Amino acid sequence: MHDKVALVYTDQYGRYDFGPDHPLRPLRLKLTYDLMEKLNLLSHKRLEIKEPIEATQEQIERAHDPEYVEVVKKLSANPGDRIIQPYLYGLGPGDNPIFRGMYEASALVCGASIVAADLVWKNDDIIIGFNPAGGLHHAQKKRASGFCIFNDIAVAIHHLKHLKKDIKIAYLDIDCHHGDGVQWLFYDDPNVLTVSFHESGKFLFPGTGHTNEVGEGPGKGFSLNFPLLPGTNNRMLVKLFRYCVPRILDAYSPDLLFTQLGVDMHFNDPLTQMGASISAYKNIAQTLYTCSHDYCNNKWVAVGGGGYLMTVVPRAWSVFLARMLDVELRNELPNDWIEQVKKEVPNEDTPYLLWDHDDKSEVELLSHPEITKKMIDYNKELKNLCDNEYLPNISQK
Ligand SMILES: [Zn+2]
Repeated sequence: MHDKVALVYTDQYGRYDFGPDHPLRPLRLKLTYDLMEKLNLLSHKRLEIKEPIEATQEQIERAHDPEYVEVVKKLSANPGDRIIQPYLYGLGPGDNPIFRGMYEASALVCGASIVAADLVWKNDDIIIGFNPAGGLHHAQKKRASGFCIFNDIAVAIHHLKHLKKDIKIAYLDIDCHHGDGVQWLFYDDPNVLTVSFHESGKFLFPGTGHTNEVGEGPGKGFSLNFPLLPGTNNRMLVKLFRYCVPRILDAYSPDLLFTQLGVDMHFNDPLTQMGASISAYKNIAQTLYTCSHDYCNNKWVAVGGGGYLMTVVPRAWSVFLARMLDVELRNELPNDWIEQVKKEVPNEDTPYLLWDHDDKSEVELLSHPEITKKMIDYNKELKNLCDNEYLPNISQK
């Protein structure tokens, strides 16, 4: 059988923990794994569960500055180190607080993305590798940013480039925040196409991802950005995605598809202002599954990403895994998972359905037809940009 899916998972992911008051809680990964298990996805005959190992310092330094890597290592061993000025490296109180063991925890996330990439690249019978702990797309060459210490995506992409020098990778990022770290790390590289759908940087961290960020030098034309308006709903998002993504991947024709599957475009996400529901992710999963097969050599490496509702992330990623396995799930949740969520996430409304089709922003937009029209026109502009500028650039080679 040439259709295996590898889920890279360990309960050691819980070590990547910025503390109880931080929005990126390890609990979301545990609840994800538990839901996948209770939906019988983990016992599926096509699924293999693989344990990650820590990335080596050499592997991390392919993407990061050695001085920065040393700083993380030192602070990880001794968080109170007075000689280092952590804020110079994006570390410290706020988004990226220092914690003991953060080097090893971050290296493990990188290692897990490497394992996912390795399995897909080296084994013809594994078509998809999924590391839900990965997706730390904001980390930059010399600094941490936006909850991301090391950029596991860039480390895994460099690993693939190490295996095959001229490999062509299409990186697609659907996190609500712009995939800035990955974009800048491969900004001049035509062999890594970066595509990001996100809430416009005019309204949201990190403030980048505008349509004029197209790459530089030989990489000019190989960074594509789709900045979306706040409140963009399922229908608009899916329509744009389904139109642009297959065309982009068809035109670029990569050796491998690498996706960051942040699910913080959800309408209730506390950090963002978008209008998508889990139904949109169901649609997106279908498009990616088909595109990976049709245009990307049937090789798909998927990592997680943002998403700050403990009741949403597990459902959305289970929907993705179900699609990867060709399993049609019913729109219901296992009772024991509902009970678990009631206990472990008392501050969020308990969900009873796997995917919410109630689209709050759909209703809001209906009562504001002038805003709806503006948004539809804006998305048409993005579609035109894709047709007239993005696609001709990437089709040249
Ligand atoms: Zn995000």
